[in-house]
Amino acid sequence: MINLAGIDIGTSGTKVVLIDDTGRILASAYKEYPMAQPRPGWAEQDPELWWQAAAAGMREVLTKSGLSGQEVQAVGLSGQMHGAVLLDKDYELLRPAILWCDQRTGAECEWMNEELGTEKLFAWSGNPALPGFTAPKLLWLRRHEPEIYARIKHVLLPKDYVRWRLTGELATEVSDASGTLLLDVTKRRWSEEMLAALAIPRAWLPPVYESTEISGWVTPVASSLTGLKPGTAVVGGGGDQAAGAVGAGIVESGLLSVALGTSGVVFAAADEAQILPGSGLHSFCHALPGKWHLMGVMLAAGASLQWLRQTLACKTSYDSLTALAAGVKAGSEGLLYLPYLLGERTPYPDPAARGGFIGLTMRHGQGHLVRAVLEGVTYGLRDSLELIKEAGVPAAEIRVSGGGARSALWRQIVADIFQAPVTVVNSTEGPAFGAALLAGTGIGVYASVAEACGKTVRVESRQEPDLSAGETYEKGYALYRSLYPLLRETMHGLATEFEN
Ligand code: ADP
Repeated sequence: MINLAGIDIGTSGTKVVLIDDTGRILASAYKEYPMAQPRPGWAEQDPELWWQAAAAGMREVLTKSGLSGQEVQAVGLSGQMHGAVLLDKDYELLRPAILWCDQRTGAECEWMNEELGTEKLFAWSGNPALPGFTAPKLLWLRRHEPEIYARIKHVLLPKDYVRWRLTGELATEVSDASGTLLLDVTKRRWSEEMLAALAIPRAWLPPVYESTEISGWVTPVASSLTGLKPGTAVVGGGGDQAAGAVGAGIVESGLLSVALGTSGVVFAAADEAQILPGSGLHSFCHALPGKWHLMGVMLAAGASLQWLRQTLACKTSYDSLTALAAGVKAGSEGLLYLPYLLGERTPYPDPAARGGFIGLTMRHGQGHLVRAVLEGVTYGLRDSLELIKEAGVPAAEIRVSGGGARSALWRQIVADIFQAPVTVVNSTEGPAFGAALLAGTGIGVYASVAEACGKTVRVESRQEPDLSAGETYEKGYALYRSLYPLLRETMHGLATEFEN
């Protein structure tokens, strides 16, 4: 029997799963750790915590499954993207990693977008500069921590630090490297032009593999700490979005995934690199050799419902809230909700965008508010769908995941607003599961990632779109779309005049 491990280095904790080659989960473990916020808007983590969590998680899944390290054939890695891990000449950590959600690099992004120009950024990397990305973090360090900057010899992404500890190899792979802004996403290699323009030494960056390539083997020291056998293959893996998509079977054009987590993500596999300046979509390499993906991000998807629950619903359970919403007709009787509680990313990259309810009357009760939130979040995600369709990528089936996918009502609203069937699959282990499938592909258990998904990912539920609700939602969506452009100035005025 072939057994495979997947490790996902998340922001709140690390997940380790052990599966067999049919995709059966043999054991999983989750190890939490804190995130430091030394100043407002900053987000840092000690990479040592990731390694400790990965090693402890691996020991735990081996114990739980009753397998020995000898019986695990390969490991795949996944994790939070965009972080900057900095090592000196002796491979020692220079400071805590600066994470994807850190907001300190506004000035550096502005400089990159305005001085270098978004045209060049798109030509060289396929994406604009956003505060979470890795490259602006290096520019920030050069300006604000020059003594640390002067000692940098290696820059790694979070999961690739764990790879270094597991294998002694410095390496990354294309999907995660896409979020550094230093990768030429079209050519799937570091961008010499970008590195030259930013004066970042090429030697700092590790070799870039495809997600299914073997990047190294477990060392004797790592073996003693993890329980894996020395020489176990460690495969490239993928950034959390790409690996999560593999785990959900989003590996061919036409299948779209919608994650209804705290944030919302619309993800589509694409056969070609799509460079789309100004669209607000990310264009990254997929974890399948020779494939790419498009991704739209909503900052407050599930977070909108969470906010409503905490502020207006006395922390009633999500199931009770969605039951109330089910009693209200599609369209929430003329109530619209704007989900920009945390600013927005796609389709409006605008930190000063603000949320709201529009159309309130005395008739509206709690069920209307909840339903309007579910609908408003889904309208916002439809904005990403429209951009993806404009890029020529079809959407024949929507696969939903995340906490919001537990609600049959929310799934139906997605089907009705997207006018496409909505499915849910068996695997709930997310990126760690996808990383294990990439590991299996890397050592030849599966002929391709698509075959890995075909053998392990099964559709468990399917909901068809309702045509009459769809008509109501078309009108609602047109009104929703008109609001941000109308209210932008007001939102900015409120954010600058009254906040702080
Ligand atoms: P994260 O993205 O932080 O990993 P989850 O994927 O678990 O989190 O998503 C959390 C969100 O899922 C919550 O904020 C809430 O909006 C939504 N959610 C959780 N349970 C339910 C439910 N039973 N019905 C509807 N929405 C839910």
